[in-house]
Amino acid sequence: MALSLFEKIWREHVIRDLGNGYALLHIDRNVNHDLVGSLVFEPLDKLKRRMPFPELNFATMDHGIDTDPGRGDETKIPGGKDGVQGLRRKSKEYGVHLFDLGDVRQGIVHVITPELGIALPGLTLVCGDSHTTTVGGMGALCWGAGVTEIEHVLATQTLLVEKPKALRILFEGRVAKGVTPKDMILYAIGQLGAKAGNGYCVEFAGEAIRALPVEGRLTVCNMAIEMAARFGMVAADDTTFEYIAGRPFAPKGALFDQGVRYWRTLPSDPGAAFDREVTLDAGKIEPQITWGTSPQDVIGVSGRVPDPAKAPNAEQRGYLERALKYAGLAPGAPIDGTPIDVAFIGSCTNSRLSDLRRAAQILKGRKVAKGVTAWCVPGSGQVKRDAEAEGIDRVFRDAGFEWREPGCSMCVALGGDKFGPGQRSISSTNRNFENRQGVGVRTHLASPEMVAAAAVTGRITDVRKLAV
Ligand code: SF4
Repeated sequence: MALSLFEKIWREHVIRDLGNGYALLHIDRNVNHDLVGSLVFEPLDKLKRRMPFPELNFATMDHGIDTDPGRGDETKIPGGKDGVQGLRRKSKEYGVHLFDLGDVRQGIVHVITPELGIALPGLTLVCGDSHTTTVGGMGALCWGAGVTEIEHVLATQTLLVEKPKALRILFEGRVAKGVTPKDMILYAIGQLGAKAGNGYCVEFAGEAIRALPVEGRLTVCNMAIEMAARFGMVAADDTTFEYIAGRPFAPKGALFDQGVRYWRTLPSDPGAAFDREVTLDAGKIEPQITWGTSPQDVIGVSGRVPDPAKAPNAEQRGYLERALKYAGLAPGAPIDGTPIDVAFIGSCTNSRLSDLRRAAQILKGRKVAKGVTAWCVPGSGQVKRDAEAEGIDRVFRDAGFEWREPGCSMCVALGGDKFGPGQRSISSTNRNFENRQGVGVRTHLASPEMVAAAAVTGRITDVRKLAV
């Protein structure tokens, strides 16, 4: 019987089918962070239970920590006592691998799990953050779990899960020069809408996906949740196996070879059934930029923002009017040339070494425009170290960017990192919701290259005009 990648991993992990579309699954990896902190350990504390498999559980500091050099005082971080310090205390007590502040392995949870070889093809992996879809780019089944679900995983290494339907999005053909994985996923969300993946596991496939390096596949899967899909994935292949080889927690020697033999069996079989299939023409994609307050509010950089007067109905008109009001944009205006105040490169979407390398190519020999604040927050200590070894930090610093410590930072603005009220930001993050980057901040999502281009011109700019 022809099976999809999702179906193969699902079946491999079912402990018991509980009917009505629900099953109890084995969870191969769980990763905690400072936002869930000590909270998720409370039931274990109360019941005086040990974790059955502490070695399958990991933890890092990322969500609320400051990323300014020196980090600031961690006791003053919102939730610092139960968050950072609580996670540190409980990880030690229960024997969870912790990547603490100051450890080169510390970083944004969805950056470090592939980077350290914790995430492998065919695994189930959960984390208390909805962008855990990212890690599906390794060919695994990965999703964001709620606090009570994480508690259940800590206590049993299992989870009750409703089986999603299967959606395959095929990117056929090749992307044009200057078009990145971020543009591919923003384009898909723009075409299909922010609710298209609701109830589905999305497999991204097709020629343009196969051509991506692993880090690009992680970027694409990262934003599956922005089309409401709890799961996103890309089948593992030789590119993935090469990426995994030698990573600290990945299998080694004969065990690695055994892993590869199994991983090769996982891609969707020809003729596998999907509940829905969509094909997108990768050649039509240009650099994307959001204009509104949802990732679906996205256009090509040569486009114009919508005009509510042309909306097909009152509901759509109201939606557009509200989004444009928050964004402070005139109906029908060209997006290219819109002045910006801040530029941010970071987050689990686009803070990996390849992202920083590509942005540095745009920044080299250029200066951040007068009046623009520009930050780069590498996704992990390892990314930061590797970038510094290549001199990428110098390119950013010489251009006028702040070169900061790893963390979620302005993806979520939970800790001390903040932009000013009403500022217009261009950002390599994943959400442009109202107030996501601080009160009144107007966020435009784009690729790291587009952020770099806007930083040096002071305006939203088609990066292809600056590309080297
Ligand atoms: S960078 Fe943003 S989306 Fe990613 S883990 Fe951190 S808060 Fe979540």
